[in-house]
Amino acid sequence: MLVIGGGVSGLAAGLRLHDAGRDFLLAEMEDQVGGHSRSGTNAITAFPWGAHYVPLPSEESTEVRRLFERLGIITGYEKGLPIYDDYALCADPDERLLMYGQWQEGLLPKLGVSKAEQAEHQRFFAQMETFRNLRGQDGRRAFCIPIDASSADPALRALDRISFAAWLEDQDYGGEHLLWLLDYSCRDDYGAGLAQVSAWAGIHYFAARNGRAANTDRETVLTWPQGNGWLVERLAAPFAGQIRTRALAVGVQDGPRPLTNLYLPEEDTVLLVESRAVILAVPRFVAARIVHSPAARPDAGDFHYSPWLVANISLDRLPAGPGAELAWDNVAYGQSMLGYVVATHQHLAMNPRQTVITAYWPLDHLPPAAARAEALARNGETWKTLIAQEILRMHPELAGAIRRIDLRLWGHAMVRPVPGFIWGKARQQALQDHPPLFFAHSDMAGISIFEEAYTYGIRAADAAIRHGPHPT
Ligand SMILES: Cc1cc2nc3c(=O)[nH]c(=O)nc-3n(C[C@H](O)[C@H](O)[C@H](O)COP(=O)(O)OP(=O)(O)OC[C@H]3O[C@@H](n4cnc5c(N)ncnc54)[C@H](O)[C@@H]3O)c2cc1C
Repeated sequence: MLVIGGGVSGLAAGLRLHDAGRDFLLAEMEDQVGGHSRSGTNAITAFPWGAHYVPLPSEESTEVRRLFERLGIITGYEKGLPIYDDYALCADPDERLLMYGQWQEGLLPKLGVSKAEQAEHQRFFAQMETFRNLRGQDGRRAFCIPIDASSADPALRALDRISFAAWLEDQDYGGEHLLWLLDYSCRDDYGAGLAQVSAWAGIHYFAARNGRAANTDRETVLTWPQGNGWLVERLAAPFAGQIRTRALAVGVQDGPRPLTNLYLPEEDTVLLVESRAVILAVPRFVAARIVHSPAARPDAGDFHYSPWLVANISLDRLPAGPGAELAWDNVAYGQSMLGYVVATHQHLAMNPRQTVITAYWPLDHLPPAAARAEALARNGETWKTLIAQEILRMHPELAGAIRRIDLRLWGHAMVRPVPGFIWGKARQQALQDHPPLFFAHSDMAGISIFEEAYTYGIRAADAAIRHGPHPT
């Protein structure tokens, strides 16, 4: 079998095929696997280039829980609740927010927030708790991870047809600070603000996560210095010999034994691979280009992707600032850039002198294609100047401490759950396989998260195994 794409979804498929004793090759176009969850390293520390955390897996994330048991992230159970390895649990303090020149703990604005607004915050979070426990007419939870486990109740799915902004207005939420937090949250998970995503997606962000633990609270996330690159390394290790990097799939011809053209830039040759099945663990817009058979060719017309810029900034001293102490995730109120996470936060050394911070910037100020064009038109030096300005605006005390800035521009970073997308026709079509071609990518969920990528990878591998009972 052939797996195209070595992101989390492709690696999940590879691991499943490996466990089932199947003969397969995984082809990845980059020089390293991991896709949007890849990581890097320098003399100071390892650091993420994209995905940097996973929340405690929800009740429905059964495949992810199984993986976490296998990797020792879940070390046991106590009264039915998973016990998580302390090394993976985000150390305290986890989040802080810069407002009016002062750092406060947590991301929910507190400074200068009126009593009326505080009451609104309470009302909103109480409503999200109701949604978290809500079940549709079919008995399924209203909002789940993975998304396909969610209730099909039409009354709930109707929330997908309006924007989150319109729903909030309808529910009489209008406080500046709450709207900022919700917009920040949507930009953080979807790369698009609350006016661009559906109400279903906006509520999902708050209501789907119901994972609990025996040894920490529900809000704690799992993270590592290299972010989800830690998971990538362990997903790929068992079948490293079956991975071919710098192998770009340029064409897949459907048929009883599909034929794939792999371009190998180092040899400047095209390798023709015949296989019993092909798992396309690539974004939909890539699958639409490389599958040549019209009957199986995916339609990517309704898939929209947000571009992001990620910068890893090596510092000669730790960021500081007045108020709450340095946290793992550090955000400035009202800033277009989302803030940064600190790679050395999970290090066991108590007081590192140097660090790498990873700054995240969803480019959602323009429609995606225009934002991509603008981002590409800027050269690296211009981007580095912009990033340095944003960091120094948060931390004037870091003047002179920025040793280097490394950049990565993700043109199609995250699929956007625009109104009508999650429960619309395009996504439902994307879930249809065309044996012997099988599809796996997080964008099939309408949201880009580890749990979806991993689950779709497992699903595609299981379908491919059922399709081809003989281990070839
Ligand atoms: C900036 C950023 C931050 C994120 N933060 C988080 C986070 O904190 N937590 C979280 O859960 N998720 C996060 N995500 C989402 C992340 O995308 C998913 O968690 C997950 O990594 C997606 O995996 P995937 O396999 O679906 O897709 P991808 O990562 O897109 O993998 C697809 C792979 O296919 C390869 N490929 C594409 N075309 C070809 C071809 N023709 N031939 C061969 N190979 C090809 C690509 O190089 C890539 O390796 C973030 C994403 C970004 C961009």
